[in-house]
Amino acid sequence: MTDLTIRNVTKRYGALTVIPQLSFRIEDGEFVVLVGPSGCGKSTLLRMLAGLEEISGGELLMGKEVINDRPAKERDMAIVFQNYALYPHMTVAENMGFALKLRKRPRAEIDERVDKAAAILGLGSLLDRYPRALSGGQRQRVAMGRAIVRDPQVFLFDEPLSNLDAKLRVQMRAEIKALHQRLKITTVYVTHDQIEAMTMADKIVVMNEGRVEQMGTPLELYDRPADIFVAGFIGSPS
Ligand code: ADP
Ligand code: MG
Repeated sequence: MTDLTIRNVTKRYGALTVIPQLSFRIEDGEFVVLVGPSGCGKSTLLRMLAGLEEISGGELLMGKEVINDRPAKERDMAIVFQNYALYPHMTVAENMGFALKLRKRPRAEIDERVDKAAAILGLGSLLDRYPRALSGGQRQRVAMGRAIVRDPQVFLFDEPLSNLDAKLRVQMRAEIKALHQRLKITTVYVTHDQIEAMTMADKIVVMNEGRVEQMGTPLELYDRPADIFVAGFIGSPS
């Protein structure tokens, strides 16, 4: 099972406490969207889940297993950032296969997985292109392709669409959602876009200063915001 439990997690940078104590659970296969003001700890939480940053206290579990002591490469999570830095000197296929190459997977397996991910993302005809010859949306798809080829148990997205123009954002939103319907991979998705949160989430977590202000389905949060802060974030009339 790939449900994720964040249990009494704290995070400090030196004297600065960024996350005083955070607890919530993400069910297997769920699409959970994290929202909250800039600086409230969303990216920090994703990086801690991915193993790119240590927690200062508490526990992270996948199923019943404690994972916070495991190095990133043993966590089986793929993270997609806003600044999807593709390697400029590598083709789309090479960019997508690179993580597998690092893991010393055989050539035939890499090709097969890259082809499969490319088909899912509509990148089949672009595999030999270099990033400079791609549009923003295509680059973002390659960034997702790099995550998909690894066949992770968990997807972590950190504002993946915020560099795209409005029209492309709407399109990519639908594509990411369709991808989730198809693969049912447990997903944690950070955004500052209310519409994105309302339309994509199975559950929304509203964070504030490193705490959960409220967690629920989009409809629950819209109909019954816990406080004015949540109402402000969700855009509901309270
Ligand atoms: P969000 O993604 O919600 O905007 P972040 O997780 O990036 O917020 O940051 C939360 C807080 O932690 C901010 O106050 C930020 O300045 C601080 N922070 C993030 N990374 C570091 C770091 N490496 N060193 C010190 N402070 C950091
Ligand atoms: Mg952030």
